Amino acid sequence: MKRIITISSNGLLKSLETKELLSKKLINAGFEVRDDFHPDTELVISIGGDGSFLKTIHDFEFPEVPVVGINTGHLGFFPDISPDNIDDFIEAYLKKDYLIQDISLIQANICTNKHCLDIFAINEVVVKGDKSRTTHLNLKVNDTHIQNFSGDGMIISTPTGSTAYNYAAGGSIVDSSLNLMQLTPLYPINTNAYRCFTSSIIFSSESIINIIPEYRFEDSILIVIDGVEHKYSQISDIKIFVSDIKIKLLRMSNYEFWSRVSEKFL
Ligand code: NAP
Ligand code: MN
Repeated sequence: MKRIITISSNGLLKSLETKELLSKKLINAGFEVRDDFHPDTELVISIGGDGSFLKTIHDFEFPEVPVVGINTGHLGFFPDISPDNIDDFIEAYLKKDYLIQDISLIQANICTNKHCLDIFAINEVVVKGDKSRTTHLNLKVNDTHIQNFSGDGMIISTPTGSTAYNYAAGGSIVDSSLNLMQLTPLYPINTNAYRCFTSSIIFSSESIINIIPEYRFEDSILIVIDGVEHKYSQISDIKIFVSDIKIKLLRMSNYEFWSRVSEKFL
């Protein structure tokens, strides 16, 4: 039986050319290559940038097998391999010369006045208004009331997501070996009318963050998961916590988080 590798690519010409070349090389090395996720798929390869990498993992519903990226995108914080290094990658993969990084997802349990559902994030969950008015969110942690937030909204990010939207919003970059959640406010108001924290808050991986929207004007809460909008009517309660579900990122053996940060950010 052949070992199966699933390849997913964005639509850019460079990605499609890389996919074609990679497929040929993997077939020559004895693998079966597929576009879909087969129960026997042993590795998922995403070709594109970070956005494609996130989309691949969501599309394949958080596979248990390792995922690796080939960067044809802009930043490429997730994808580890350059299209010029495909041969080295195949050689290293065959020799099992790589690292596996376990990434805990963040889970959001969202309840409306009709039902509850769970969604999962690799980078972050954003809770904000879908109109341009001030958003009011009551924040509790483990049943303890913390603050009545007023502003644009809040980001709850994973350590992996800390370098994305969280960082742009003034949050801290988190060492990827830590297990925690970072809540970063988006334009918090801090006046005599409204008081809330203006810096990020770090929560332990055991915490349950509870956000209860306060509807002053209209039903207007938007949830954004890894850059994709989810709109539900009449959200009454959102619970956010570190999920039991993990994904495995395959990294080349010379991968080092902080050198990646300085390479991509400075
Ligand atoms: P996008 O608009 O292309 O993403 C914005 C930038 O974030 C891209 O350069 C993307 O890299 C990069 N990125 C994504 N995940 C990252 C990570 N974990 N660490 C460092 N950089 C990362 O949209 P997208 O590609 O679909 O990515 C979705 C993400 O965009 C969301 O999860 C959110 O974090 C981020 N976002 C950021 C802002 C902001 O900074 N103001 C606003 C909305 C969303 P590539 O160029 O390789 O795609
Ligand atoms: Mn992108």
